[in-house]
Amino acid sequence: MQTRNLIAGRWTDIGSGGAIDVADPASGEVIARVPMCGASEALSALNCAFEFQPEWEATPITQRADVLRATAAMVVARKDSLARIITQECGKPLAEAASEVQYSADYFSSAAQEIQALNEMEVSLERPGLRGVVRHRAVGVCAAITPWNFPLAMLARKVAPALAAGCAQLAKPAQETPLSAFALAEILLECGLPPQCLHVLIGDAKAIATTWLMDGRVRKLSFTGSTETGRLLLRQCAPEIVRCSMELGGHAAFIVLQDADIELAVKGAVQSKFRNAGQTCICPNRFLVHESIASEFAARVAVAAAQLKIAPGLDAGCQIGPLIHDAAVEKVRAHVADALARGAKLICGGRTKEIPDRPDRFFEPTVIANCDPSMLCFEEETFGPVIPIMSVASEIQAIEIANSSPFGLAGYVFGGNDASARGVAQQLQCGVIGVNEAAPSNARAPFGGVKYSGYGREGGAWGLMEYVTTQYLALRSLEK
Ligand code: NAP
Repeated sequence: MQTRNLIAGRWTDIGSGGAIDVADPASGEVIARVPMCGASEALSALNCAFEFQPEWEATPITQRADVLRATAAMVVARKDSLARIITQECGKPLAEAASEVQYSADYFSSAAQEIQALNEMEVSLERPGLRGVVRHRAVGVCAAITPWNFPLAMLARKVAPALAAGCAQLAKPAQETPLSAFALAEILLECGLPPQCLHVLIGDAKAIATTWLMDGRVRKLSFTGSTETGRLLLRQCAPEIVRCSMELGGHAAFIVLQDADIELAVKGAVQSKFRNAGQTCICPNRFLVHESIASEFAARVAVAAAQLKIAPGLDAGCQIGPLIHDAAVEKVRAHVADALARGAKLICGGRTKEIPDRPDRFFEPTVIANCDPSMLCFEEETFGPVIPIMSVASEIQAIEIANSSPFGLAGYVFGGNDASARGVAQQLQCGVIGVNEAAPSNARAPFGGVKYSGYGREGGAWGLMEYVTTQYLALRSLEK
């Protein structure tokens, strides 16, 4: 397992900020010690990336695509070991980690395909003797800052299109989960990526980001994380007009219409809410269920939730692992307590499950009914395994409440009539919507939000376009 930062083509032990322990959230055991970088290491990485940028951009597209395809294949071939690393550092069940590995590989194959499909275009200028040609160029050196909840996939989403487009990439994963990122970088190098193209380092996040963003040579930042950090970074990007993609916090509504197939909706709720113990940006946080079926929905979700196996992520059959750290547990506790104090009714869960010799981080899947928008859990992401249900009288009320949030990443609509379910979905102010579908993300489709959830898209052709600039040539030929 690689435990060092990758800077200027070398795996290095040097860290001007000391070192940090990476611990397994399920046991608290230290699994690695990683050097912490600061401004000086960030600058070395940037110098190297900037110097190599023109060469990578000039590398034929087929050659770049070959590296990405080989990477996709090797990521899949190493699925077991990568999944273990993900589970050990972020806690999610091993089966979910394996899906994340496949999902990450898909970004590499998709980016390889999209860059080869990105052709020059002719524009009709309607002026004699003048041809309009539109082409695409790499945006330049890119920086990526990623969170801990999908430590492999969030990086793959950024690195794959950046490298496909011909950009050198600087990456700063979350302190909690650097090992998946190092493992991915190892694979890319083994698959023929020139080492000057990719630099992966953790450390003092503020110092690293400031060094990269205020320098003038980084032309693009892609950030996934909280809205609060996104705002800070946007300010830092302003002086040098650094182009940004911001994948920020979510607060998805899960709407169940009167004519919904309740069994499907219950299955969808359990699948989308309890993945990664509720620590995903697109997981539903506000369940808006038609009043005629709200009690039945709550009772059936509670039965399904009670059957989930809570255990350390590496245990066979685990379906809910630990939360990432103690502060995350406290936030979930606070949301549940607030809802109950304001009149909600606890249907199941509501506390942590004790597992001998394990930290107190295994929160039981929780269902609360009689919720309303005054509650904390309706205001902000819980980032834990809690299903708060509010009864609504109509589609209009559901849409109004869903859209009243300043966040707009994902949404879900379950309804028995395709046209009306789609009609409701299209009125939601968010970027990704599952209609009778609980897992809408796909590496070939656009992913991203609106409002406080950010802007820019990752995945497919849309993800690639974030890493190119459009260049227009007005060509007058002097040749006879
Ligand atoms: P976070 O605190 O914003 O951290 C995310 C990343 O930003 C980490 O790499 C962190 O580095 C870095 N960071 C923190 N402060 C920084 C600063 N001042 N300057 C530069 N970088 C800084 O977010 P989190 O709590 O770990 O992640 C959960 C959030 O991510 C949730 O809100 C979730 O919804 C969101 N998320 C969004 C998406 C999406 O696609 N929209 C996907 C996944 C997660 P350190 O680790 O070194 O502090």
